[in-house]
Amino acid sequence: MEILRGISVAHGIAIGEAVILDAEEFRIPYRTVAPDHVEREMELLDHAFRSSLQELADQTQWLGEHLGQDAANVFDWHIGVLKDTNLRSSIEDLIRQKNAAAAYATSTVMRNYQRRFMQMTDPLLVERIRDVQDIERRLLRHVLGETREDLAHLSKPVVLVAHDLTPTQTAQLADTMVVGVALDSGAATSHTAILLRSWGRPGVIGLNDVSTRVSGGDLLIIDGVNQLVIANPNDQTLEEYKTKKAEYERLAVELEVIKKLDSVTADGVRIYLWSNIEFPREAAIGMASGADGVGLYRTEFLFLRPEGAPSEDEQYEAYRSAIEGTRGGTVTIRTFDLGADKYTQQKQYEQERNPMLGLRSIRYSLQNLDMFKVQLRAILRASVHGDVRLMFPLIVSLMEYRQAKMTLHDAMEDLEEDGIEFRRDVSVGMMLETPAAAIQVQDYCREVGFISIGTNDLIQYLLAVDRGNERVGRFFSASHPAVLRVVRDVIRACTKADVQVSLCGEMAGQPVYTLCLMGMGLRHFSMAPANVPEIKKLIRLATIPYAQRVVRRALSFETDWQVTNYLRKETKKLLPDDPI
Ligand code: PEP
Ligand code: MG
Repeated sequence: MEILRGISVAHGIAIGEAVILDAEEFRIPYRTVAPDHVEREMELLDHAFRSSLQELADQTQWLGEHLGQDAANVFDWHIGVLKDTNLRSSIEDLIRQKNAAAAYATSTVMRNYQRRFMQMTDPLLVERIRDVQDIERRLLRHVLGETREDLAHLSKPVVLVAHDLTPTQTAQLADTMVVGVALDSGAATSHTAILLRSWGRPGVIGLNDVSTRVSGGDLLIIDGVNQLVIANPNDQTLEEYKTKKAEYERLAVELEVIKKLDSVTADGVRIYLWSNIEFPREAAIGMASGADGVGLYRTEFLFLRPEGAPSEDEQYEAYRSAIEGTRGGTVTIRTFDLGADKYTQQKQYEQERNPMLGLRSIRYSLQNLDMFKVQLRAILRASVHGDVRLMFPLIVSLMEYRQAKMTLHDAMEDLEEDGIEFRRDVSVGMMLETPAAAIQVQDYCREVGFISIGTNDLIQYLLAVDRGNERVGRFFSASHPAVLRVVRDVIRACTKADVQVSLCGEMAGQPVYTLCLMGMGLRHFSMAPANVPEIKKLIRLATIPYAQRVVRRALSFETDWQVTNYLRKETKKLLPDDPI
């Protein structure tokens, strides 16, 4: 039995035999054709381009209808490359001038095209290599007329294992018997991760070498709850997971009912559950999962597209659509949190030595004021459509917050001059994600409308653990006593100052921390829509005095594993049958 730890893209448990997806390598030998066959090769090429574009149009339409516009847009870049006349004429030149076979000419030109991206340092551009490979394979499939045994022809449920999946392969999963996915690679913002999340079945990515450690036919367990992949489990583990899987399925049915109920503790205290969203359409998904609104809209995902920053109108439409999807609930729009692991494609960055400590978040916004102002105008314009709040990410100093607010006021004045409607009383707050901000929380409380605690970053900076580095992943823990004490102090200071405080890091959606956070006085939680029903279930079973007892005891421990064990035990008392 082997246990591998990675990054979960969706909850749940999947059990099945492994199917290893090889990199689909076509080996194309150098081949020329007789001069009177050149026209036939040109026709073959034309057929390949037309068929590829048709396939992409069909796929885009299917994705748009089944997974939404964001998923459909994934192939825009592929379509752009196939319509690039320079690229096509390079292939045609090779056929005409060298009598090259269409397959050889295609492969040669596409490999050269790929090499250009290999020399780039921007991680998002490097990711384009996979897109180019995907386009090459698609063209070659049509040139060579090969029909590969593909995922659509599986006859039993399987777990798919691969080094990586191209966007095309990921999009194909929706109609297959694949029940779970395990990948070596894994960047949370890649197109593949976005599509896997929309697909929704259990998946763990960022496993490094799962595709070489596992063989086709091995029995695999994908544990999307604990972010694990277990290969060839022993009988006891397999039985445990079969039980957990059955529990999960039973729980899913029960949660369908619970998500529609009020989020109130057993002793009558209202707890607000908001959703974290990356795309506007997820606002409605959050509401359907039982959320009260949106506690964090990560708007930077609008900017991570090949075409570059969206215009003011495009942004306005996106924000308005999220507001409409929330049907009157609060929508908390965070200004773009770019830099660190999220780079726009237009900006050519010097590689930063420590990007997590580099030009990111509000620092980036304040150095790109034109782009920042466009976003602020779009948010302000959208604010007339609902209960909109605006917040700034990663505030480290009061000066930064004040500068951001000044920019907001500039944007307001511009709108006023232009005679454009907006809400002047829009609530403005900050994300508290740094030790510096936590230490100065009382000072911020005098100036901000609300505070949202971003524990993903707060933990990274408190514990000196890069949140994206799988090699130190085991040191990243919300149970660390230092983390718990800082979170408690921040909640306490905000409550005393009568400033609304919420928590929108991953911790808010993890049942083991719910009692603890409620006991500290937290009344506003924000989490991935999929976590809302389970957290609501737990809240409805708990009372505040019980939660306060739990937090007192949790804060008495000296190590994170003691805290986790204790919190798990207490949570299990309320949810004895649930997989947590
Ligand atoms: C956080 O840091 O906790 C947070 C919610 O923001 P993000 O995960 O987008 O950095
Ligand atoms: Mg953050």
